[in-house]
Amino acid sequence: MNRLNKPVITMETIKEMEDMSFFIHAKIFDDLLIVAQKQTNCFILKTSEGLIVIDAIWPAKEAFGAIIDAIKDVGWNPETIKKLVLTHGYVDHTGCGKWFVEKYHVNTYLSEIDDNFWREHPTKPDRPETWKDYNIDVYIRDGDTITLGDKTIYVYDTPGHTPGGLSYIFPVKEGGEIHMAALWGGTTPPWTKDEVKQYIKSLDYFIDEAMSKKVDVALSNHIAVDNGLERIMYSKARMDYMPNIYIIGQDGFNNFCQVFRTLSYEILERL
Ligand SMILES: [Zn+2]
Repeated sequence: MNRLNKPVITMETIKEMEDMSFFIHAKIFDDLLIVAQKQTNCFILKTSEGLIVIDAIWPAKEAFGAIIDAIKDVGWNPETIKKLVLTHGYVDHTGCGKWFVEKYHVNTYLSEIDDNFWREHPTKPDRPETWKDYNIDVYIRDGDTITLGDKTIYVYDTPGHTPGGLSYIFPVKEGGEIHMAALWGGTTPPWTKDEVKQYIKSLDYFIDEAMSKKVDVALSNHIAVDNGLERIMYSKARMDYMPNIYIIGQDGFNNFCQVFRTLSYEILERL
């Protein structure tokens, strides 16, 4: 049986983050929509008072258009988008947020540390078109909550991938049943020993918090780590009797996090 214990990440993976020729989306819970391009993805959480967008793919008009089209396709109203919540200050997640600000006047959320990091250390220093291009309205940190209507997102400081990276836990619904979903914000481990150690510390902390919140749904903002595209395709064509592939149980979430640990140990060995 073919089973991997770590994702395949190459130069091509990095390049594909800028490829705007392909988008796919699926409603993976009654109140959660995922929109992906070839490597990265965002989520749209539906609340009783409007929509929350979590991460924003790449700073390209095509990405913004794809997210709006996906929202319309599942019968939701983009005019009700109220918030844009970011995991961290890298361009493949801050993405096309400026159009959400311009068109829908969303409130934007990120840690203060990563807001500064985003401005002072652009992911692509030699390419001004990818630099910080919109403001953060609300600085969030560990222990904070973001509430809109009937939904609350719990905020966790998980530095490592970036100095002010955040991860989130929030409820999602399927057929009247509530599940707790966790989004590990900064996917790949960083490149210095101290940073990787910090990354592992954050991971341990987040797993503990996820266990206490009874997280049974694993989400990722990079499709390379969770068979993201395949899970979206499965969800699009899922038969009624089939399980929701995102619901993997509490042990499953723990196992999911092992992928990040494996990647970290591999980097530590090389340093
Ligand atoms: Zn990323």
